[in-house]
Amino acid sequence: MSRKFIVGGNFKLNGSNEFLTKLVEDLNKGNLDSNVEIVVSPPFVYLDKVRQSIRKDIAVAGQNCYLKSSGAYTGEVAAEMLKDIGIEWVILGHSERREIFKETDEEIGQKVAHALKAGLKVIACIGEKLDERVNNKTNEVVERQLKAIADSVSDWTNVVIAYEPVWAIGTGKVATPQQAQEVHKHIREWLHKNVSPNVAEKTRIMYGGSVNGGNAATLSKEPDVDGFLVGGASLKPEFVTICNARA
Ligand code: PGA
Repeated sequence: MSRKFIVGGNFKLNGSNEFLTKLVEDLNKGNLDSNVEIVVSPPFVYLDKVRQSIRKDIAVAGQNCYLKSSGAYTGEVAAEMLKDIGIEWVILGHSERREIFKETDEEIGQKVAHALKAGLKVIACIGEKLDERVNNKTNEVVERQLKAIADSVSDWTNVVIAYEPVWAIGTGKVATPQQAQEVHKHIREWLHKNVSPNVAEKTRIMYGGSVNGGNAATLSKEPDVDGFLVGGASLKPEFVTICNARA
Protein backbone atom coordinates (compact mmCIF):
# COMPACT_ATOMS: atom_id res chain seq x y z
CA MET A 1 0.00 0.00 0.00
CA SER A 2 1.60 3.23 -1.04
CA ARG A 3 -0.91 6.01 -0.93
CA LYS A 4 0.81 9.37 -0.53
CA PHE A 5 -0.51 11.25 2.50
CA ILE A 6 -2.34 14.41 1.47
CA VAL A 7 -3.31 17.42 3.57
CA GLY A 8 -5.60 20.17 2.32
CA GLY A 9 -6.16 23.57 3.88
CA ASN A 10 -9.64 24.87 3.12
CA PHE A 11 -9.59 28.56 4.03
CA LYS A 12 -13.32 28.94 3.25
CA LEU A 13 -14.50 32.58 3.28
CA ASN A 14 -11.52 33.84 5.24
CA GLY A 15 -8.42 35.88 4.55
CA SER A 16 -7.26 39.22 3.20
CA ASN A 17 -4.21 40.34 1.26
CA GLU A 18 -2.36 41.01 4.48
CA PHE A 19 -3.42 37.82 6.24
CA LEU A 20 -2.61 35.57 3.29
CA THR A 21 0.76 37.22 2.65
CA LYS A 22 1.75 36.35 6.22
CA LEU A 23 0.28 32.83 6.04
CA VAL A 24 2.16 32.08 2.81
CA GLU A 25 5.40 33.49 4.27
CA ASP A 26 5.03 31.22 7.29
CA LEU A 27 4.30 28.14 5.16
CA ASN A 28 7.22 28.96 2.88
CA LYS A 29 9.50 28.95 5.92
CA GLY A 30 7.84 25.89 7.47
CA ASN A 31 9.62 22.62 7.97
CA LEU A 32 7.25 20.37 6.05
CA ASP A 33 7.41 16.60 5.63
CA SER A 34 8.46 16.07 2.01
CA ASN A 35 6.47 12.81 1.87
CA VAL A 36 3.20 14.67 2.19
CA GLU A 37 1.27 16.32 -0.61
CA ILE A 38 -0.07 19.69 0.53
CA VAL A 39 -2.84 21.71 -1.10
CA VAL A 40 -4.18 25.06 0.11
CA SER A 41 -7.47 26.56 -0.96
CA PRO A 42 -7.97 30.31 -0.54
CA PRO A 43 -11.04 32.19 -1.83
CA PHE A 44 -11.10 32.69 -5.62
CA VAL A 45 -9.84 36.28 -5.64
CA TYR A 46 -6.63 35.27 -3.85
CA LEU A 47 -5.89 32.10 -5.84
CA ASP A 48 -3.47 33.72 -8.26
CA LYS A 49 -1.64 35.67 -5.58
CA VAL A 50 -1.22 32.58 -3.39
CA ARG A 51 -0.18 30.38 -6.29
CA GLN A 52 2.47 32.88 -7.38
CA SER A 53 3.92 33.39 -3.93
CA ILE A 54 3.70 29.97 -2.30
CA ARG A 55 6.52 27.42 -2.45
CA LYS A 56 6.30 25.11 -5.43
CA ASP A 57 5.82 21.96 -3.38
CA ILE A 58 2.47 23.28 -2.15
CA ALA A 59 -0.39 23.14 -4.66
CA VAL A 60 -3.40 25.44 -4.78
CA ALA A 61 -7.08 24.53 -5.08
CA GLY A 62 -10.28 26.36 -5.89
CA GLN A 63 -13.06 25.86 -3.34
CA ASN A 64 -15.64 25.25 -6.05
CA CYS A 65 -16.21 25.62 -9.78
CA TYR A 66 -19.17 25.52 -12.10
CA LEU A 67 -20.31 22.69 -14.34
CA LYS A 68 -20.09 24.74 -17.55
CA SER A 69 -17.08 26.22 -19.33
CA SER A 70 -18.54 29.65 -20.13
CA GLY A 71 -21.77 31.52 -20.71
CA ALA A 72 -24.47 33.48 -18.94
CA TYR A 73 -23.84 32.21 -15.39
CA THR A 74 -23.26 35.37 -13.35
CA GLY A 75 -21.05 34.85 -10.35
CA GLU A 76 -19.67 31.47 -11.38
CA VAL A 77 -16.10 30.37 -12.13
CA ALA A 78 -15.21 27.67 -14.68
CA ALA A 79 -12.80 24.79 -14.15
CA GLU A 80 -11.10 25.93 -17.36
CA MET A 81 -10.45 29.35 -15.78
CA LEU A 82 -8.82 27.78 -12.75
CA LYS A 83 -6.67 25.70 -15.06
CA ASP A 84 -5.89 28.80 -17.14
CA ILE A 85 -4.34 30.61 -14.16
CA GLY A 86 -2.30 27.57 -13.16
CA ILE A 87 -4.52 26.12 -10.44
CA GLU A 88 -4.20 22.34 -10.18
CA TRP A 89 -6.96 21.32 -7.80
CA VAL A 90 -10.57 22.00 -6.90
CA ILE A 91 -12.64 21.04 -3.86
CA LEU A 92 -16.14 19.92 -4.88
CA GLY A 93 -19.22 18.88 -2.94
CA HIS A 94 -18.19 20.40 0.38
CA SER A 95 -21.04 20.10 2.87
CA GLU A 96 -21.31 23.89 3.01
CA ARG A 97 -21.93 23.90 -0.75
CA ARG A 98 -24.48 21.13 -0.29
CA GLU A 99 -26.26 22.68 2.69
CA ILE A 100 -26.05 26.46 2.23
CA PHE A 101 -25.94 26.62 -1.55
CA LYS A 102 -28.24 23.64 -2.10
CA GLU A 103 -25.95 21.73 -4.45
CA THR A 104 -27.38 18.32 -5.22
CA ASP A 105 -25.60 14.98 -5.60
CA GLU A 106 -26.34 15.16 -9.32
CA GLU A 107 -24.89 18.65 -9.72
CA ILE A 108 -21.79 17.67 -7.76
CA GLY A 109 -21.36 14.64 -10.01
CA GLN A 110 -21.57 16.91 -13.06
CA LYS A 111 -19.07 19.33 -11.54
CA VAL A 112 -16.64 16.48 -10.82
CA ALA A 113 -16.92 15.21 -14.39
CA HIS A 114 -16.43 18.68 -15.84
CA ALA A 115 -13.48 19.58 -13.61
CA LEU A 116 -11.69 16.32 -14.42
CA LYS A 117 -12.28 16.86 -18.13
CA ALA A 118 -10.79 20.34 -17.80
CA GLY A 119 -7.66 18.75 -16.31
CA LEU A 120 -8.11 19.63 -12.65
CA LYS A 121 -7.53 17.24 -9.77
CA VAL A 122 -10.58 16.93 -7.54
CA ILE A 123 -11.09 16.64 -3.79
CA ALA A 124 -14.65 15.30 -3.70
CA CYS A 125 -16.35 15.67 -0.32
CA ILE A 126 -18.96 13.42 1.24
CA GLY A 127 -20.28 12.98 4.76
CA GLU A 128 -23.37 12.51 6.88
CA LYS A 129 -25.20 14.97 9.14
CA LEU A 130 -25.70 14.35 12.84
CA ASP A 131 -29.30 13.15 12.57
CA GLU A 132 -28.27 10.76 9.82
CA ARG A 133 -25.54 9.30 12.02
CA VAL A 134 -27.89 9.05 15.01
CA ASN A 135 -30.40 7.22 12.82
CA ASN A 136 -27.75 4.79 11.56
CA LYS A 137 -27.87 6.25 8.06
CA THR A 138 -24.15 7.05 7.76
CA ASN A 139 -23.31 4.29 5.30
CA GLU A 140 -26.43 4.87 3.24
CA VAL A 141 -25.74 8.63 2.91
CA VAL A 142 -22.06 8.21 2.16
CA GLU A 143 -22.83 5.53 -0.46
CA ARG A 144 -25.44 7.72 -2.14
CA GLN A 145 -23.05 10.70 -2.35
CA LEU A 146 -20.19 8.49 -3.45
CA LYS A 147 -22.25 6.85 -6.20
CA ALA A 148 -23.16 10.24 -7.68
CA ILE A 149 -19.44 11.00 -7.84
CA ALA A 150 -18.35 7.56 -9.03
CA ASP A 151 -20.90 7.62 -11.86
CA SER A 152 -19.09 10.72 -13.17
CA VAL A 153 -15.56 9.36 -12.97
CA SER A 154 -13.91 7.03 -15.46
CA ASP A 155 -10.29 7.63 -14.47
CA TRP A 156 -9.70 7.88 -10.71
CA THR A 157 -6.07 9.00 -10.94
CA ASN A 158 -6.96 12.63 -10.20
CA VAL A 159 -9.66 12.05 -7.59
CA VAL A 160 -9.30 12.15 -3.82
CA ILE A 161 -12.29 11.51 -1.56
CA ALA A 162 -12.72 13.62 1.57
CA TYR A 163 -14.91 12.06 4.23
CA GLU A 164 -16.19 14.94 6.33
CA PRO A 165 -18.96 14.15 8.82
CA VAL A 166 -20.99 17.36 8.94
CA TRP A 167 -21.34 17.18 12.74
CA ALA A 168 -17.56 17.38 13.04
CA ILE A 169 -17.02 20.38 10.76
CA GLY A 170 -16.17 23.56 12.61
CA THR A 171 -17.63 22.17 15.83
CA GLY A 172 -14.51 21.10 17.69
CA LYS A 173 -16.15 17.64 17.84
CA VAL A 174 -13.67 15.55 15.89
CA ALA A 175 -14.58 11.98 14.92
CA THR A 176 -12.73 9.42 16.99
CA PRO A 177 -10.04 7.54 15.08
CA GLN A 178 -12.34 4.49 15.22
CA GLN A 179 -15.30 6.40 13.79
CA ALA A 180 -13.17 7.82 10.98
CA GLN A 181 -11.54 4.47 10.20
CA GLU A 182 -14.88 2.67 10.16
CA VAL A 183 -16.34 4.96 7.48
CA HIS A 184 -13.09 5.19 5.49
CA LYS A 185 -12.97 1.40 5.40
CA HIS A 186 -16.57 1.30 4.27
CA ILE A 187 -15.82 3.80 1.48
CA ARG A 188 -12.87 1.71 0.34
CA GLU A 189 -14.96 -1.45 0.38
CA TRP A 190 -17.64 0.32 -1.65
CA LEU A 191 -15.03 1.36 -4.22
CA HIS A 192 -13.70 -2.21 -4.28
CA LYS A 193 -17.12 -3.64 -5.01
CA ASN A 194 -18.54 -0.93 -7.26
CA VAL A 195 -15.53 0.46 -9.11
CA SER A 196 -12.53 -1.86 -8.93
CA PRO A 197 -10.08 -3.38 -6.43
CA ASN A 198 -7.30 -1.31 -7.98
CA VAL A 199 -9.16 2.00 -7.58
CA ALA A 200 -10.10 1.05 -4.02
CA GLU A 201 -6.48 0.35 -3.18
CA LYS A 202 -5.09 3.49 -4.80
CA THR A 203 -7.69 6.18 -4.08
CA ARG A 204 -6.84 8.38 -1.15
CA ILE A 205 -9.49 9.12 1.47
CA MET A 206 -8.93 12.25 3.55
CA TYR A 207 -10.70 12.87 6.83
CA GLY A 208 -12.09 16.34 7.59
CA GLY A 209 -13.87 17.83 10.59
CA SER A 210 -12.17 19.59 13.50
CA VAL A 211 -8.72 18.22 12.71
CA ASN A 212 -6.10 20.12 14.70
CA GLY A 213 -2.50 19.94 15.79
CA GLY A 214 -3.49 17.85 18.81
CA ASN A 215 -5.56 15.10 17.18
CA ALA A 216 -3.96 14.74 13.74
CA ALA A 217 -1.18 12.32 14.68
CA THR A 218 -3.55 9.78 16.26
CA LEU A 219 -6.05 9.97 13.39
CA SER A 220 -3.25 9.61 10.85
CA LYS A 221 -2.34 6.19 12.24
CA GLU A 222 -5.58 4.63 11.01
CA PRO A 223 -4.88 2.44 7.98
CA ASP A 224 -7.56 3.95 5.74
CA VAL A 225 -6.97 7.60 6.71
CA ASP A 226 -4.78 8.92 3.89
CA GLY A 227 -4.81 12.58 4.78
CA PHE A 228 -6.85 15.48 6.12
CA LEU A 229 -8.99 18.29 4.84
CA VAL A 230 -8.57 21.05 7.37
CA GLY A 231 -10.71 24.15 7.81
CA GLY A 232 -10.18 26.35 10.87
CA ALA A 233 -6.76 25.00 11.81
CA SER A 234 -5.41 25.57 8.29
CA LEU A 235 -5.41 29.31 9.06
CA LYS A 236 -3.18 28.80 12.09
CA PRO A 237 0.47 27.87 12.64
CA GLU A 238 -0.66 24.38 13.77
CA PHE A 239 -1.37 23.57 10.09
CA VAL A 240 2.33 22.68 9.84
CA THR A 241 1.92 20.19 12.72
CA ILE A 242 -1.04 18.63 10.89
CA CYS A 243 0.94 18.35 7.65
CA ASN A 244 3.69 16.61 9.59
CA ALA A 245 1.29 14.31 11.47
CA ARG A 246 2.87 11.17 10.03
CA ALA A 247 6.47 12.31 10.22
P1 PGA B 1 -12.88 22.31 10.17
O1 PGA B 1 -13.44 22.26 8.66
O2 PGA B 1 -11.49 21.75 10.13
O3 PGA B 1 -12.91 23.77 10.53
O4 PGA B 1 -13.80 21.48 10.99
C1 PGA B 1 -13.14 21.19 7.81
C2 PGA B 1 -13.73 21.41 6.46
O5 PGA B 1 -14.83 22.00 6.35
O6 PGA B 1 -13.14 21.02 5.43
